Amino acid sequence: MKKSSLEFNDVIHDYVLSHSLRESQILVDLRNETAKDSAAIMQIPPEQGQFMSMLVQLTGARRTIEIGVFTGYSTLCVAQAMPDDSYTLACDVDENWTNIAKKYWAMAGVDKKIDLRLAPAIETLKSLIAEGQSESYDFVFIDADKNNYEHYYELSLSLLKPGGLMAIDNVLLFGLVVDVNIVDESLSNVFTQENIELMRTLNTKIKCDQRVDICMLKIADGLTLVRKK
Ligand code: SAH
Ligand code: CA
Repeated sequence: MKKSSLEFNDVIHDYVLSHSLRESQILVDLRNETAKDSAAIMQIPPEQGQFMSMLVQLTGARRTIEIGVFTGYSTLCVAQAMPDDSYTLACDVDENWTNIAKKYWAMAGVDKKIDLRLAPAIETLKSLIAEGQSESYDFVFIDADKNNYEHYYELSLSLLKPGGLMAIDNVLLFGLVVDVNIVDESLSNVFTQENIELMRTLNTKIKCDQRVDICMLKIADGLTLVRKK
């Protein structure tokens, strides 16, 4: 028997999208505008956005943190799935990209629910803890600079309520964490050797971390779900 349940090729992937994707026009427009940027590959794919919307609906999340906003796609997916009195704290360092995000959040009518902090995310997260906000968040999405993931993991664990959920993006680094030789040459330079080694270390740490329940999903570039016990 094969170890993996199903080998995904483009035909099956297209079937999944055509039979499940319900991307709103605002999200489509945001995706198209982002596609003009050479960094567009950083944006989560639409099926992942839809999955994250469902995660926050299922968990009833009302207070969330987004670490790595870019042009705002994932933040919008999370914010639009939550009630009007919800709160999303969004961390990024780039003013140009987040200006695009702000434009689309306003168009979608979720801008009042999102508190954007333009500063290195480690500083922002530490300031929340210093303000006494530990154990007060329901959901955290980690998707900023890969070399700081371990810090984001520990800080997020402090900020999550017991039972809260963390989703960590790009845990497979296109497969580079497994073997740098199995990856297409066009993708092999997107992440550095340091990124790869640090992600391997974090994946191993999470596997053994008894403070949490975990699940590593093969969606997009690998998404680890971490539930704080
Ligand atoms: N979640 C986004 C993609 C994020 S891309 C989406 O779905 O579209 C990664 C983002 O992390 C970039 O916007 C980059 O500006 C931001 N980033 C890089 N270093 C950072 C840091 N030290 N603190 C906060 N954000 C950072
Ligand atoms: Ca990502």
